[in-house]
Amino acid sequence: MERTAIKKHTGFWYVVKSLLSGLSLTWKHFKNARNRRTPEYVTDENYFKQADGQVTLKYPYEAIPVPDNGRYRLHNEIDDCIVCDLCAKICPVNCITIESVKATEDIGMTSDGTKKRLYAPVFDIDMAKCCYCGLCTTVCPTDCLTMTPVYDFPEVDIKNMVYHFTDLTPEQAEEKKQLFAKQQEEMAAAKAAVLAARKKA
Ligand code: SF4
Ligand code: SF4
Repeated sequence: MERTAIKKHTGFWYVVKSLLSGLSLTWKHFKNARNRRTPEYVTDENYFKQADGQVTLKYPYEAIPVPDNGRYRLHNEIDDCIVCDLCAKICPVNCITIESVKATEDIGMTSDGTKKRLYAPVFDIDMAKCCYCGLCTTVCPTDCLTMTPVYDFPEVDIKNMVYHFTDLTPEQAEEKKQLFAKQQEEMAAAKAAVLAARKKA
């Protein structure tokens, strides 16, 4: 009987002690939570020195900087694109769709001095399918296709995840196609005329 009373007594103080210990730990974190950690990336010198303070950031008002070599949303600087199709060919999930039209006039050069010969009536990237492998950016000869630091781009309608980078309106594309077809016809007619003249001679 006496033994049970002692046990009960010890159990009571054990519970009180552990409650106090838990409360003091909570209080310590509560006090530290008045300080905020500054948003620093894991490679920054100070990152592991900030042991205390709130670790959650008020996203989207605060965000941890992303690494330079991160793979996020793609962007195509279409003025520098030579429509070579290499990115579409290497894409493992076929999320790049390109259509090209040959220019009948001089359309200038890219910023790295590469001659442009094709228009891109369609240059679409379906970011909903993209697996962010980065292969398309590594093969791009003019470095116009890049991964941006933008990682937060949700859409309610999945169709909006398709990014359009064309340099032509549908009307302009149609016009360019017709000009190219006309040029081909004229070249074929000129060739036929030369052959006919040769036969006569
Ligand atoms: S990052 Fe990979 S999956 Fe995404 S478009 Fe480029 S090649 Fe395709
Ligand atoms: S690889 Fe680069 S230059 Fe070639 S089509 Fe793709 S984005 Fe354009």
